[in-house]
Amino acid sequence: MSIQDNLTSIKKELPSGVTLVAVSKTKPNEDILEAYNAGHWVFGENKVQEMVAKWEDLPKDIEWHMIGHVQRNKVKYMAKFVSLIHGVDSLKLLKEIDKQAAKHNRIIPCLLQMHIAEEDTKFGLDDSELSTLLQSEEFKALKNVKIVGLMGMATFTQNENQVRKEFAHLKSIFDKLQQEMPEISILSMGMSGDYALAISEGSTMVRIGSSIFGVRNYQ
Ligand SMILES: *Cc1c(COP(=O)(O)O)cnc(C)c1O
Repeated sequence: MSIQDNLTSIKKELPSGVTLVAVSKTKPNEDILEAYNAGHWVFGENKVQEMVAKWEDLPKDIEWHMIGHVQRNKVKYMAKFVSLIHGVDSLKLLKEIDKQAAKHNRIIPCLLQMHIAEEDTKFGLDDSELSTLLQSEEFKALKNVKIVGLMGMATFTQNENQVRKEFAHLKSIFDKLQQEMPEISILSMGMSGDYALAISEGSTMVRIGSSIFGVRNYQ
């Protein structure tokens, strides 16, 4: 199946209201262009340098999402064009995004990444860190970032019940937060292996790579 065929069949499955982020990390520009020419313009990358290089070479109406863990010293390279940063998990990082966004007269939309998986290798905030962050005066003073939702990654396991439970947990945090912050609308959860489950638990944004572009080669 071609990239275009994969895209078409995935998009057919997605309910309206669920946004597809095509995760193009490690993939060449020609693969991205194939998806773009098939009518898709939202792409996700997990390394700032790689995303910057692709942004420079590819059509400027592509929306670039940073889905990976972000080092603070890299924020300045993407501040002028990034559409959404998914993996924000500290006030320090948020302050740096705010500072760099201000230099470009922008407000950068961000998702706060929650730790929902069992593995302790995955980044993210827990419930109490989330409320501490949101209640801090330093956060409230930021003018050039906007929290538009939450992101999370489930445990990498074949155990569907566990994955479902983790997504349901994130959805419950999202629903609770939305009572205080009615402006949040994005719940980013679900990848190639678990997006159907994520959608059934309330995802509004899925990040799909290998099911569109094929397996990644990290050589
Ligand atoms: C790579 C990646 C994805 C996509 O993974 P696939 O399994 O290829 O769909 C989604 N989210 C994040 C944060 C990633 O790093």
